[in-house]
Amino acid sequence: MQFHDSMISLVGNTPLVKLNRVTEGLQATVLAKVEYFNPGGSVKDRIAVRMIEAAEQSGALKPGGTIVEPTSGNTGVGLAIVAQQKGYKCIFVCPDKVSMDKINVMRAYGAEVVVCPTAVDPEHPDSYYNVSDRLAREPGAWKPDQYSNPNNPRSHYETTGPELWDQTDGKITHFVAGVGTGGTISGTGNYLKEVSGGKVKVIGADPEGSVYSGGSGRPYLVEGVGEDFWPTAYDPNVTDEIIAVSDKDSFQMTRRLAKEEGLLVGGSCGMAVVAALKAAEGLGPDDVVVVLLPDSGRGYLSKIFSDEWMAGHGFLEEAGPAARIGDVL
Ligand code: PMP
Repeated sequence: MQFHDSMISLVGNTPLVKLNRVTEGLQATVLAKVEYFNPGGSVKDRIAVRMIEAAEQSGALKPGGTIVEPTSGNTGVGLAIVAQQKGYKCIFVCPDKVSMDKINVMRAYGAEVVVCPTAVDPEHPDSYYNVSDRLAREPGAWKPDQYSNPNNPRSHYETTGPELWDQTDGKITHFVAGVGTGGTISGTGNYLKEVSGGKVKVIGADPEGSVYSGGSGRPYLVEGVGEDFWPTAYDPNVTDEIIAVSDKDSFQMTRRLAKEEGLLVGGSCGMAVVAALKAAEGLGPDDVVVVLLPDSGRGYLSKIFSDEWMAGHGFLEEAGPAARIGDVL
């Protein structure tokens, strides 16, 4: 019989897929590491497994304990799947601006979700920060804190990095990833640098306005990447270059990936691909650029994949009907 003991053993070992259309005119091979093949649908399943197992080993998480994390997205789903399989409770704290769809996904996996008002000061007892801190101080509670947990980058050092080296038969020359907590790029990048004797170039992709590319934390719409502070999960020495990408370029590329490459992925994936194509300009036929695509596009159907939403933000190239009439005149 061929079966997996549980969904946990399906985490990782995601496929590499060649990009064929959006790469037109480039000589280098550009390969995408498609992380939506993880059971929870994102790259964050990897850190969930490693952070929980390390906390079990250190005794920080005891049998029957409760995992408390301020998260509304991919990390919550990863933690919820691993927690239910291992018999832990999950309480996620999120601000009230988070969509009901995202909250329902976490609840579907058995997590409890506490929604906090955004319209109160951080010092208010009901604020997002205060509620999650209070819950994390309860007996039996453990807060993974993906921004400072060393097992976040370590999970990528132990899985994503070695997978890429094996899958490319050691031929990878460039690694490109978006930077959020910085765990993916730091763990994967450090492994690839070590195993290649420093030959692999590591390139970060960042939304315009975020601190990693020299911004001040100015708002942008791409989700899951960029920061307004420097998390300790990020190793600033790992990146050879950081490429800033606009929301418009990120979202237009995200739509092209679905239409032209059959990859329905999230906005941070489009952003990373824009950076990867920029990095691949001028490279030769022996170069192998790998770009990591963190999640699926299913969570963004009413945003990036909605013409109205895109047009409302000025992200569609085509002008609206009125402007088109004007153009003809
Ligand atoms: N894209 C998405 C959609 C994410 O959820 C995340 C995680 N915050 C990232 C990219 C960035 O990954 P990392 O936190 O490892 O830098």
